[in-house]
Amino acid sequence: MNHRTTILDAQSIADLRELSYVNFGDHDISPEEVRHILELCDAAWTHSGDPKHPHAVLRSGQCSTGFFDVLRALRFTNLCRLFAHQLARKANRFMAQHGLQPPDWVVGSDHAGAALSHSVAEFYGCEHDFTRKHPEDPKQQLWERFQIGPTQRVLNVEELVTTTGTVKAVRKGIRDGNLTEVMFMPFALTAVHRSDEETVEDHPILFLAHFDVKTCDQAECELCAAGSKRLSPKTHWLELTQP
Ligand SMILES: [Zn+2]
Repeated sequence: MNHRTTILDAQSIADLRELSYVNFGDHDISPEEVRHILELCDAAWTHSGDPKHPHAVLRSGQCSTGFFDVLRALRFTNLCRLFAHQLARKANRFMAQHGLQPPDWVVGSDHAGAALSHSVAEFYGCEHDFTRKHPEDPKQQLWERFQIGPTQRVLNVEELVTTTGTVKAVRKGIRDGNLTEVMFMPFALTAVHRSDEETVEDHPILFLAHFDVKTCDQAECELCAAGSKRLSPKTHWLELTQP
């Protein structure tokens, strides 16, 4: 059995917990394998197309035909390390192609981005911290604990990129919280990309898997028009995923 069939043969979280990043040292795991991991961890949901089934309402108020809660997979430390190692492989290739030095800092966001970014930092043996959500405005990310030197290279890592809003908020928060200019590396990493935007500040976003999900305002939502209920994935995950 080769390494690539091992993931797709997994039938339970117990099977996934036997995976080690070491066994994928020279393999890229495929988007199908990432999806299989997420589905076994109950971390991925997409709408069936049947309007009798509910669909998701996002924090922005928009309707969505899919939702990813990647932390449900990242809570298993071996899977977090596997995703982190695979992202570091992508980053290494990009840095080699563009003649870039490795990062001095890896940064993530509060909260789900913190675990994965920490694991990526471990592969570089570099410094790591994550921003803190503004207590009154969760769209703002604050950087308050450390200063980053003006010659230090900073790499953004997120577990999920939906609108690129979080990556931008992390960069803004770090710039605002740092006394000197901050040098971000000219790319960012995410495990799951479900955005229409492929860049942040003209820097490419490298990902393990991309998923197409339809997001729209409620007034234009075909599922709402057909009578499908809108449920928040944060509070109604079971009803949404097992209608
Ligand atoms: Zn809707």
